[in-house]
Amino acid sequence: MVRCRLIDTEATRKTPAIEAVPRSAPFRVLILGGTGEASELARRLADQSDLSIVSSLAGRVNQPKIPEGPVRIGGFGGVDGLISFLQNERIGAVIDATHPFAARISASAELACNRLGLPLIVFSRVPWAKQEADRWHVVLDTRSAAAYVAQTPGRVFLAIGRQQLDTFAACSNAWFLIRAIDPPDVSLPPNTKLILERGPFHLEHELQLLRDHAIEYIVSKNSGGPATYAKIEAARLLGIPVVMVERPQKHSVPSINSVDGVLATLNRLQPIAEFCTP
Ligand code: NAP
Repeated sequence: MVRCRLIDTEATRKTPAIEAVPRSAPFRVLILGGTGEASELARRLADQSDLSIVSSLAGRVNQPKIPEGPVRIGGFGGVDGLISFLQNERIGAVIDATHPFAARISASAELACNRLGLPLIVFSRVPWAKQEADRWHVVLDTRSAAAYVAQTPGRVFLAIGRQQLDTFAACSNAWFLIRAIDPPDVSLPPNTKLILERGPFHLEHELQLLRDHAIEYIVSKNSGGPATYAKIEAARLLGIPVVMVERPQKHSVPSINSVDGVLATLNRLQPIAEFCTP
């Protein structure tokens, strides 16, 4: 199999033996997605004639927002499956633009890229920062958030998506408002109202939601980005505390926190002639 190996031209300056040349053939880029930013990357790269992209979605939601251009859906089958995909599809670089809490696919991406010597560009949104009027209780993970809830009875807006809801299944002393895109397929706590809604959410909507359900505190992941930030603003305005779950450590390589930055980094990657075919 012939593929392009790519090098970063900044790194190249420190390794004079390797000479980067202009791209002679389109090279393939895998975008690991499931986020608005991944879709924006796909849209902005779709017309770039020296690149050929493929977006990948996990297939978690019933009606995913499909990015522009070629898309594949479903898990790869762990690191080995991802490695096979990268080889079979002659992928020359990977962009990990998955959600900050999607840690397993990111670990697979890093391992696979390391093993194949492929460049990995990591996008990560800037986390939300606590403002002066915010009443945040920061916890390390959803398990710690559930432990907090178990000791703090009340009316809780549980806004963590649907995958780790079972962590709260034993919290019988609280009442939960749970919001998800699709119905959860894990055990829920006994006193629960479920609403199915897809963001982005606006401030007025979130204020109304919190008031209508007499919410006493929120459990949220620190996802960053604007699409789900309105609930944090609404909590601030209403003086409602937020149990804020910190992000997992995903990568050992530094991340880039803007789509423009990812595009600039991608454009600095150039193929080495001996590894390329037209
Ligand atoms: P995860 O725990 O990191 O991944 C679990 C497994 O799902 C992975 O091992 C992989 O299966 C598969 N997978 C995940 N993302 C994939 C992708 N983009 N393309 C192909 N396979 C993928 O991820 P998660 O937390 O379940 O999230 C799933 C997807 O939803 C992610 O793509 C993420 O961007 C998006 N998302 C997640 C959240 C969140 O709060 N976690 C919120 C919004 C959107 P294999 O091991 O079989 O390859």
